[in-house]
Amino acid sequence: MTEALLPERLARAITLGGPMPISHYMAAANAHYYASRDPLGARGDFVTAPEVSQMFGELIGAWFADIWSRAGKPDMAYVELGPGRGTLARDALRALKRFGCAPEIHLVENSPALRAVQQEALPQAIWHDDVTSLPNGKPLMIVANEFFDALPVHQIIKRGEDWHERLVACQDILFLPIAGKKVPETIVPEPLRDAPSGSIIESAPAGVAIARALARLLVDNGGAALIIDYGYNGPTIGETLQAVKDHAPVNPFDAPGDHDLSAHVDFATLGAMAQLTGAKQNGPVPQGAWLTAIGLNERAEALRRRQPDQAASIEAQRVRLADPRQMGSLFQVMALAAPDWPDGAGFDDD
Ligand code: SAH
Repeated sequence: MTEALLPERLARAITLGGPMPISHYMAAANAHYYASRDPLGARGDFVTAPEVSQMFGELIGAWFADIWSRAGKPDMAYVELGPGRGTLARDALRALKRFGCAPEIHLVENSPALRAVQQEALPQAIWHDDVTSLPNGKPLMIVANEFFDALPVHQIIKRGEDWHERLVACQDILFLPIAGKKVPETIVPEPLRDAPSGSIIESAPAGVAIARALARLLVDNGGAALIIDYGYNGPTIGETLQAVKDHAPVNPFDAPGDHDLSAHVDFATLGAMAQLTGAKQNGPVPQGAWLTAIGLNERAEALRRRQPDQAASIEAQRVRLADPRQMGSLFQVMALAAPDWPDGAGFDDD
């Protein structure tokens, strides 16, 4: 089975070609991880917001319905990046339908295992390996929940006075990060150059390229995008690369391909790139505040009234999505939109 062979393949690549950039290691490990399983849910490795509650996807659907309606109800396409089990899409599209909106469905997914699960949930969807084949010609409603965090990051590390690219080396079959060749200081953001020895800076060229491509699609066709993830406004000092297996942290350099590798998303850099391309940016704001502003409490109340025997579980879901000690402030929501499109709800200061 290929599953057992990924560490050997990576070890061989390192033996032949020398230590590899962290980003290559992360890309290879995650491609293998997602291609070989459905990692979501209580019995998987991690639980995402759409798997916590139907309210998450429904509110996202209602958010897009509001924009669609204010834009004059054009014919649109729904695009989701990394749709997992298709749960968010199903909940959002059901909510959109209640408002009379039935967009065409496009899913960007490169895992055969998850595509099969998505096909069950959304048989009418059209799949894409990446954003380059997404439709041009009608306005788009684009969603990415916990997608950007799965994309490979690049790292540099300071040793003494110099910055070095961070690489993954291998001894026998044990992987470990090392400082590689020196990089010119000019690639280090100026305010961070004086950081102490040992400092690490991450960047996400793949994520930035996708944010630019989405912004270009919005500028050319109209529409809006929601990017939801854990993240920060960088660039900044610090390593956020992490690995999760069975709902617990593990060493990112142990057993590549057998755990989920992720890194926090630099919203400021994604937003700046989208703005350079001509799109508007709203947020990021904390997920809890955003969901509450767009009607989480009201939706929970309506569901509790309809299913009184489920009241405690619905309330627990609401708290899990919105409480700052749970998903409420760890996750951030950022919107992008075509310059002449209405601003979506939930991003006002008050
Ligand atoms: N959005 C879902 C799943 C998040 S897990 C949810 O919230 O439940 C990350 C998703 O992104 C998975 O569907 C994974 O297969 C997909 N993915 C990761 N890297 C990808 C890449 N480079 N291209 C396309 N899809 C990718």
